Amino acid sequence: MRTLTGKMIAPGLADGTAVVLLDTRWCEKAAPAADTHTEVLRLQRAFHSARVDLEALQLRVHQEFGANEAEIFVAHQLILEDPTLRDDIIERIKRDGLRAEKAIAASVDDYAARLNEAQDPYLRERGSDIRDIGDRLIRHASGHPSSRFSALGINSIIVAEELMPSDLVELDSERLVGVVTERCGETSHVAILARALGIPAVTGMVNVTRLITSGQRLLLDSNRSELTIDPGQTQVQSFRKRRMRFEEKRLRDCAQEHLPCKTADGTDILLMANLARPNETELCAAANLQGVGLLRTEFLFLDHAEPPSVQEQVELYTQVAKRMAGREVYIRTLDLGGDKYPLFLYRLHESNPTMGLRGLRFSLSEGLPLFQSQVEALLRVSSQHSVGIMLPMVLGVDDLLSAKDIVSRISSDLAIPLPPIGVLVETPAAVLVIDEILDCVDFVSIGTNDLTQFVLASDRNALDSEEDYSVLHPAVLRAVSTVSDAARSKNTPVTVCGEAAGVPGIAALLVGLGIRRLSMSPSLSGRVKHTLRSQHLEKLELAAKEALVARSIVQIREIVASLG
Ligand code: PEP
Ligand code: MG
Repeated sequence: MRTLTGKMIAPGLADGTAVVLLDTRWCEKAAPAADTHTEVLRLQRAFHSARVDLEALQLRVHQEFGANEAEIFVAHQLILEDPTLRDDIIERIKRDGLRAEKAIAASVDDYAARLNEAQDPYLRERGSDIRDIGDRLIRHASGHPSSRFSALGINSIIVAEELMPSDLVELDSERLVGVVTERCGETSHVAILARALGIPAVTGMVNVTRLITSGQRLLLDSNRSELTIDPGQTQVQSFRKRRMRFEEKRLRDCAQEHLPCKTADGTDILLMANLARPNETELCAAANLQGVGLLRTEFLFLDHAEPPSVQEQVELYTQVAKRMAGREVYIRTLDLGGDKYPLFLYRLHESNPTMGLRGLRFSLSEGLPLFQSQVEALLRVSSQHSVGIMLPMVLGVDDLLSAKDIVSRISSDLAIPLPPIGVLVETPAAVLVIDEILDCVDFVSIGTNDLTQFVLASDRNALDSEEDYSVLHPAVLRAVSTVSDAARSKNTPVTVCGEAAGVPGIAALLVGLGIRRLSMSPSLSGRVKHTLRSQHLEKLELAAKEALVARSIVQIREIVASLG
């Protein structure tokens, strides 16, 4: 029995079996040295198992997603069949006396580097295929075949150094009950997805992939930021009691769900959902949320091998809008780039991708055809349902008007009236020119996740930077207040849809700042509603006033603690 502590990124408790996602470079270091003959044999076996693996994967992806998506794994099989790669690896084992894993890594690095230099984007894209195949071979050679993409057993708790958003989309969420990582930011997209899926997650567990072996029993108590490995009877009993209490509390929160969201003195607050996939509308209905404040469309397509067609998009957006039965639905255009790259896009090499070709900047340049197809799909859906178009990472009037021109042109070509169009305010630039932006939009939403990152020049995906990355920094709070005041003075609806809206004390402070619309992961809304129903607006406004003149995060944190 051993207990590790970290930091909670999604609440809940899970009793499950560890599935360790190993960093293949570590396998490479850990593999024992052997003679040339044995290394070549290990390599041959790795090729064989990787081929079997890929056949099964291709079949599964074909059944679950379709022929196009399965194509990628056919391509991987063809690369494995090609003798050039295998001969090169064998040559390195023999010539340089390398272990199989090291020879695979060296060969794959060379191969990928050559492809990376190619002019043709298609060839450059093959570089990531080669790396993927290399990873698979290394895992098999080192006897740790469990893959980021393999099917999970029931009640699996994933243990990894780091996960990508696409990993969570790909993993079987029916079987996944918990996530444990070494690194992950609280407002990172992985954290957001875990909360949306209702999967408990902790991070900050140093060396966790080396301390745990796949198959070990784990008790994950995310509320305490605690992980117990191979628990004894006493730990199991106390864990079960805590889980029961947590479930009872969840039920109590649910009992609030049919109640309207009002402050104790009757001010209405509209609670909406942040969603990433159509089936999450069920959570939204269960939590009695009044609409979808943010549909993050990029998550619908991260695991697609081909760009989505207009028809496919129309079907997905319609599913969401239909299930919301006439309630407001705000669909954000693709916020690609940064850590969100779908399989069908060549990953651009940028020195600072989060601030590079991302969001609307990408949509108006390299991603223009994709943006146009998305706009067409959104317009078609808006002709039947109550849907608004939200533009991400807007900087000011120039990019906003370019995007609006595209929407207007397509709308007049299709003879479909324009739906409400608005922006996600998540850059300092947008805050500084908010008055001009407000003259061109029907609504604004405040994205506190990115806004905090960019105002404070602090990575939202990084760990242990609570003092550096906090929505409660006076500068961020004042930026939120600026947007809220400006929007209200022009009678433009303003919503907060960053993760801050789902934290009860912060949600209360936002209401004090004048915000009346909050959008969050459905799993967080019960507690927010509970808090808001117990507070008087006057008290919240006083707290907000005090927070706006506070000089430090610590002071504002104290104010928030007194509210939530
Ligand atoms: C935000 O930045 O606050 C936001 C809502 O967008 P995302 O978290 O998807 O970047
Ligand atoms: Mg954002």
